[in-house]
Parts: sequence; C-alpha cells; structure tokens
Amino acid sequence: MFLLTFAFSHIVAVSASGYNGITIVLDAGHGGRDGGSVGVNGTIEKEINLKYTLALKEKLVSAGYRVELTRKTDDGLYLESAKNKKMSDLNARMEIIKRANPNLVISIHMNSFSSPSAHGASTYYRSGDESGQIVSDLIQQSLNTYLGAPSTKGKVGDYYILNESYYTAVLIECGFLSNPEEERLLNTDEYLKKFVDAVYNGILLYFG
Ligand SMILES: [Zn+2]
Repeated sequence: MFLLTFAFSHIVAVSASGYNGITIVLDAGHGGRDGGSVGVNGTIEKEINLKYTLALKEKLVSAGYRVELTRKTDDGLYLESAKNKKMSDLNARMEIIKRANPNLVISIHMNSFSSPSAHGASTYYRSGDESGQIVSDLIQQSLNTYLGAPSTKGKVGDYYILNESYYTAVLIECGFLSNPEEERLLNTDEYLKKFVDAVYNGILLYFG
C-alpha cells in the first residue's frame, strides 16, 4: 500500500531548466557477447534493444525527465575477468539503478518463441510490486491502442532485473523477432515511433 500511495504522491512540476523531478532508468537488455535472441531474418536483439532504448530516452528527456541508461553502447556491463558474466552484467545494472535512485525502471527486450505466429508487445512487473503493476497496465493498454498488441494487461514476470530491483520496474518485450512480419515492422522507423509514443503515453498517465 505504501508503494501505491507513493506512486500517486508525485507532483509533476516542470522547473525552469525543464526538469520535471522524475528520474527513469532505461535498461537495454543484453549486450557484448550476450546478443539475446536472433530474428528469423537476422535482427540481433541486443542491437535493436539499444535502438529502442535510445529513441525512448530522447522522447523522455525532451519532455523533462531525467533519464539514466544502464547500457549506452553495444558492450555488456560484465567484467571480462568474471567467471559468471551474466551475473556480473546483471549486478552492474543493479548498481547503476541504485545510484540513480529512480522513480521508475524500464527494461527493454525483444521476444522469441518456437511458433512463428506469436506476436505483440507485452509488459511485465514483479509479483508484489503494486506500482509496477499499475504502470505495466498503463503502458500495456497504450501499446494495445498504438500497436494493436493482443494482450490487454501487464503480467507478472520472473526476471532478475525486476526481482532484484527495489524500485518500481517494468520489463517490456517489444515484439517477437521469431515472427517474420513483426521482425520487419520492428525494424521500421514508423513502428519505432509508435512504440515510443505508446510507452511515453503510458508513463505520462502514470506520473500525470
Ligand atoms: Zn531479451
């Protein structure tokens, strides 16, 4: 209940500098030797995740949000010396999130499934994260409207970046790289713009 109350207690007031007092961490999934999934026509998840993340950052910054990124380049965040590079990478992401002390964390991924017909964007929150559920639902509803995503609500997701984050957090699977038509769409500027507008609209409703 505390989290729920907290979520609605933000007052969005844009200062003279344009900063509206809200910090969002954007987390582009995968990176470096971890490419994530690969599309049927060769799209590499880590690359398109970063492209979507940077486009969303631009939109949010221009609207007055302070945005911190976990990953700014193609490289992963793991130490080369680490035995378990996945954990090293995830721990580095959590450190950046903690330092930013954000109002919201959004992790960007692309989906993949054995059946090529699976399609659509979906949003996830960690079990018990009431604020995460609210923002996940709002972003999902917005994605349904802007992109015709088939799902209607955010879902509970078992992801490290959600489970380990104390902060309100949402993971977005933007679409399926295993679906040839969706992979093509995800690579168009038009679809990217619609996605960014949809997520931005969901964020605006949450903090508004
Ligand atoms: Zn992924």
